[in-house]
Order: sequence, then structure tokens, then C-alpha cells
Amino acid sequence: MWPASEGTARGVGGVSATADAMDYLPIFLRVQSRPVLVVGGGQVALRKVTWLLKAGARVTVVAPALHAGLAALASRGEVRHVCALFSEAHLGDAVAVIAATGDSDINAGVSQAARTRRIPVNVVDDPALSTFIFPAIIDRAPILVAVSSSGHAPVLARWVREQIEALLPARLGALARFMGAQRSAVQRALGVLARRAFWERIVTGAVASRVLRGDEAGAERALGRELRTSQLTQSDGTGGARLGEVYLIGAGPGDPDLLTLRALQLLQQADVILYDRLVSATVLERARRDAERVFVGKESGESAQQARIHELMVRLAREGKRVARLKGGDPFVFGRGGEEIEVLAANDIPCSIVPGVTAALGAAASAAVPLTHRRLAQSVTFVNGHLGEGALPDWRFFANPQHTVVFYMAVGQLAEIVARLRAAGAAPAHPAALVSHATLPQQLILRGSLSNIAALAAERQVEPPALLIVGAVAAFANAQDIAPLSGQALSQAIA
Ligand code: SAH
Repeated sequence: MWPASEGTARGVGGVSATADAMDYLPIFLRVQSRPVLVVGGGQVALRKVTWLLKAGARVTVVAPALHAGLAALASRGEVRHVCALFSEAHLGDAVAVIAATGDSDINAGVSQAARTRRIPVNVVDDPALSTFIFPAIIDRAPILVAVSSSGHAPVLARWVREQIEALLPARLGALARFMGAQRSAVQRALGVLARRAFWERIVTGAVASRVLRGDEAGAERALGRELRTSQLTQSDGTGGARLGEVYLIGAGPGDPDLLTLRALQLLQQADVILYDRLVSATVLERARRDAERVFVGKESGESAQQARIHELMVRLAREGKRVARLKGGDPFVFGRGGEEIEVLAANDIPCSIVPGVTAALGAAASAAVPLTHRRLAQSVTFVNGHLGEGALPDWRFFANPQHTVVFYMAVGQLAEIVARLRAAGAAPAHPAALVSHATLPQQLILRGSLSNIAALAAERQVEPPALLIVGAVAAFANAQDIAPLSGQALSQAIA
């Protein structure tokens, strides 16, 4: 007996026809310019026809009546319509047949006729009558991923598809074409042994990052540089050192589900992660398991630490590492992202910038506070709550309740902010909301006005990070938000 552990029979040793034998052989069928027959004229048939046309098949649809979408294709000549019930003669020289009629007798007849003539046949949702089945498809043509549960659990197969969809960059197909276009140049420049290492570096490095963000010209230049390095070093067998790069990534306000897909993709391939104090542990968990994690958080204003971050980024990238510089919220909102890309540019280190959900947007969504609203506010400003840092515009603008102001770094400065707004003419009843740890499990939302928000914060011992939102919108609360509040919280909200 084989032990019942995963992977035993799939090991290098051999294949056994036991429990993990495959029900189907996954293959990719070329149907370009070949005739394919689809029996049925409904929505299901339309979905199959759409894939077949993408793959360049010459499609004939046999059905007494057509769904509007199919009728449109037929009228444009993109499919041929045979207005009839299926008969064997329709099979012609088809290389594949799909039965999608919803009538089990007709479907069975199509299956029987096709199998007799050894034409591969798929009966939608009926594996027993099919000799081939359609997978769930992740389309980054020319890269294609097909997922199947062999008919056991189509919903599970679709779930797997969604997971993979999220991981694969949208421009993966462009990367495949780019690499295809460069192949002969690389073949001429490098020996067989160096080539593979070269392409591996390209796929996971700065050249690919450039293609994936749409900069093919930059990618070509970077590839040229990589190629020269590889040529110089191929004699030593290492194939040359990889060019390092930095990903400047916004980690969002804390909830890992608010990471962007690109942030997730790059976190999955980074070698080193330099992360700030505001990056939550659950966000870090989404990064590549074996990536080195380096905490580089600082208390505000510590310029020595910022210099250390610059030095680290440059050094690690020069070592050929893929460095994820992970910042809370968005890197360009009170995040010193601007300084970091200046340093990278000055050192000629490639950098990809990935936006994140800034705290104001996370907090606004959590508290159901629309930052602008047709009736209540026509503009919004994000302000550094450390009022000493830099000049601020006329506070009379901030004191207008029709204008929303979000103060970052607000906790220690509440009294000062309130006093300034009051001095600029804001009324005591000017609505204010304080949101701490937005989108995190310990999130706290306090609603009040300039007259009581500082006292409420002291009473509830609000801890950073927190944002203060002021303006008419801060009093906005929709019914569903109020409903779950406890009696005490409700009276607080109304106070
Ligand atoms: N780059 C970040 C901001 C960094 S400044 C961004 O775009 O969000 C740090 C300030 O951001 C904190 O003092 C606090 O005001 C705010 N902040 C960050 N995360 C927060 C959160 N989860 N809840 C509330 N405020 C947050």
C-alpha cells in the first residue's frame, strides 16, 4: 500500500493509476480557421461561441432560433447560422462539437453522433456525455491558465480561477509577447547556458516590472543593459548579477483586503520588505513567506531614520534585491514617498510605484462619511495635523462647513486644531468625527462637534493613528450605520 500522503504517486519515481489519477488530460486545442459546430442558440451557446471566436475558430451554430447576441454575430458574418434542428449531416468536417441546447435528448443525440465519428464533443454541464470539458480560463493571452475540477466541483474551480486571476498581472500577455520579440536577440548574444538564467532574471526583475506597468520602451533599454552585463559575465558561469529594483507600495490603512492587486503581486515576489510602523501585521502576512522583513518605522521627524531608509533601499537594490518599500496608506500622502523616489532616481535604481488607499479614504468608508456630497461639501483637503510643519492656507476656508477637512496625525493636536478652526470662525456645532485605527479590528469612531470632540477623545483615550474629519459631512450618517449602535453610542452620536 502507498501511504495516503499527498504527492507520493506524483513523485519523480512514476505514475500510478490510484486515487490521484487524472480524469482528463489538459491540452490546448488549436482551432484557428478550423470548423467547430455549436448546437443550440441560447446564452450558454453564446458564451462558448465567444471563446471559440477568440481562438479563431470558424463557428457554425445550428439552432431553430438565436439569442440576440448570437443573431448579431450571425448578421455580421462572424458565425454561420444554420436555422434547423440538429442532424448528423451538420457535423461535416468539424474538429469539435459543442451541444448547448438545454434539451437532454438533443444533447444526447449530438454526443452520440459525434462520438460515432470520433469528433471530440462537449455537452455543457454533462461530463458523462462529453469527451472533452471546458476549463475555467484565466486569459492573459498568449499566457493561458485553464482550471478544472474534472466536473466534480465547478464552483471550486471558479474560486481557484479567481485566486489566480488576482495574482497574475493584467499585462502578463504583453510581457510574454515582449519576451517572444526579444528571443532571437538574446539567442544571438548569449550561450545556451547563460540564457536560462538570463530569462529567469528578466521575468522577475526590473525589465518585467517595466513591461507590466506599460513602459515597453524603458523595458527594452533595461533589457539591453541586462544583456550587456550578462555578456560580460557569462564566462564566469553566473550569468551576471540581477539589476535590483524598488517597489514603493501603499499598504492601505490596515485591513489587508484593501491592498491593491498590484501591491499583492509585488509583495509576493519581493526579496526584502522595508515596512513602516503603520503597516499592519495582517498586511505583512500577505507577503512572500521567505521574504526578509525589516522594520524601518520611525517617530515623526526622525530624519536620521529616513536617511537610513534611503541608504538601505539603495544598498539592497544594488545587491540585486527586489525591495518592497511598504508604507501605510498611500506612499504620496504624508508618506515621504517623494523623497524616496528622488533618492532612487539619483542612484539610477528602477522603481515601481503602487498607490494605496490613504487613511482618509479608509476612515471615510468605515465611518460612512462621504468626503464630498452634492448638498454638503464641494471640496476636501488633507491636512497635516502637526500644524507647525509648513505654511497652511487661510483657515477661514477650513472653517467653512461646506468644505471637508481631514487632519492626519491629529491625536496630540486636537485642542490646537479646534482652537484654530474656532478662531477662523467655525461654530461650536461645526460637525467633527474622529476615527482611530480605521479598517482595523480595534477601529473606533467618535462623532461630535468642535465643542466636544476633544473631550470625547480624552474620555475614550483615543490612541494614534487617528484622523479628524470636520465639516458638514462629518454629521452624515446613514440609517444602516446608526442602526447597530448601542443606546449609549447613539446618544453620543446625537449629542
Ligand atoms: N501615508 C499615510 C499617512 C501617513 S501619516 C496614508 O496615506 O494614510 C500617519 C497618519 O495617518 C496617522 O497619524 C493618522 O492620522 C493617519 N492614519 C494612518 N493609518 C490610519 C488608520 N488606520 N486609521 C486612522 N488614521 C490613520
